[in-house]
Amino acid sequence: MEYKDGKYWHECGFDLCGCEFYGRLNQIYCSPACKQAHNNRKTSKVNQAANGADLKIKKAIRIIMGLFKPDRDGKFVIHQVQLASLAFPFDLPTITVKDDRYNGKMFGFGSFCFYQQDGNFIFYKI
Ligand SMILES: [Zn+2]
Repeated sequence: MEYKDGKYWHECGFDLCGCEFYGRLNQIYCSPACKQAHNNRKTSKVNQAANGADLKIKKAIRIIMGLFKPDRDGKFVIHQVQLASLAFPFDLPTITVKDDRYNGKMFGFGSFCFYQQDGNFIFYKI
């Protein structure tokens, strides 16, 4: 490895920079800005792979939180047309929830779960 004035030759580890610099033996990036930029790019790859999943869940939670008025059984019924008019993200990722309040499978997201019946969506708090 090339060595000059007590420093080592490197190529910046941030692929969009790639500049050559002299620095400590274990230094990977030419500057803190490149280190930060590299980490941000990694994060954005994760966001791309997530394909907006977290955003859809947050959007669904925001919509339901604003509407949720449970009856005496803790149930909140809303028609799918009304949900659609609020741009509810029907393709949000959900988990399967088994719950005594409904004798079937429910779909969970955040602190809510729901099932569908006759064009209605029936929501419960988990
Ligand atoms: Zn750099």
